Amino acid sequence: MSIAYYNGEFSDYEKVRIPLSDRAIFFGDGIYEACIGYKDKIYLEEEHLERFFNNIQKLNMPFSKTKSQLSDILHLLCEKNGYEKYFIYFQLTRNSPIREHGSYLKDKFNLLITLKEFSLPVYENGFNTICLPDNRYGMCNIKTINLLPNVIASIDAHDSGCQEVIFLKDGYVTECAHSNISIVRDSVIYTHPKDNRILPGITRDRMLYFAKKLGIKYQEKAFGYVEMISADEVIVSSTSKFLQRVDSIDSVKLKDKKENSVCDKIFKLMYEEFLN
Ligand code: PLP
Repeated sequence: MSIAYYNGEFSDYEKVRIPLSDRAIFFGDGIYEACIGYKDKIYLEEEHLERFFNNIQKLNMPFSKTKSQLSDILHLLCEKNGYEKYFIYFQLTRNSPIREHGSYLKDKFNLLITLKEFSLPVYENGFNTICLPDNRYGMCNIKTINLLPNVIASIDAHDSGCQEVIFLKDGYVTECAHSNISIVRDSVIYTHPKDNRILPGITRDRMLYFAKKLGIKYQEKAFGYVEMISADEVIVSSTSKFLQRVDSIDSVKLKDKKENSVCDKIFKLMYEEFLN
């Protein structure tokens, strides 16, 4: 059993008790982050903390800890669990004595952190995916715990034997239910710009960082279904999977895997970086 953290206390995961006053329960009023680590290094820690603190500001969440205090708690929890490779989840929620939409305790917050063992993603079989309309709201750039459309869509994917859902809005591909998506056409990577329709993925940014280092051109420009289905590569990116190739969309098989593809190359660099 792993050790978790809740509001200043470390305890067995199973023993954490969340009070009814946590507005996550009634409203999903909270934000979260998910990151991975190896030994004493949390991979891209600064980037994850930066996104978390940006979201605190955007939603005006009460939180009295500094980045470095939060980082200390994360590292202490990693130490207590002692996993070599781990996946950390942390969430911040508002608090209120009763269920009332507009009022909450301005000086109280709930901070939950959980940890589990993490296995490095394999890169053998690509993902099979389905496309669904993106009926999410207009704040997809904020990593909130309101994940109902993503979760419903993921259940559809799972029931169809697929690993991801590709969302389409107004004729454009936005992102996936729990990853970002990019395509490669004529050696150029295309990926949706960072606006309110997508989560600004840390892995998406890291992919573009490595692309630049390798001299691979990219454009942060939305693409449509036809461009995607005929692309040289379709790539999904997320913290726990790094980069994964998409093999099929709605049962249509995509172009065959190329040796030394953009996805291959950047996956390997990320994998090495994580372990160093
Ligand atoms: N988009 C959505 C909707 C997600 O839920 C996630 C990850 O959870 C991502 C993109 C990828 O983000 P990151 O690379 O920061 O894990």
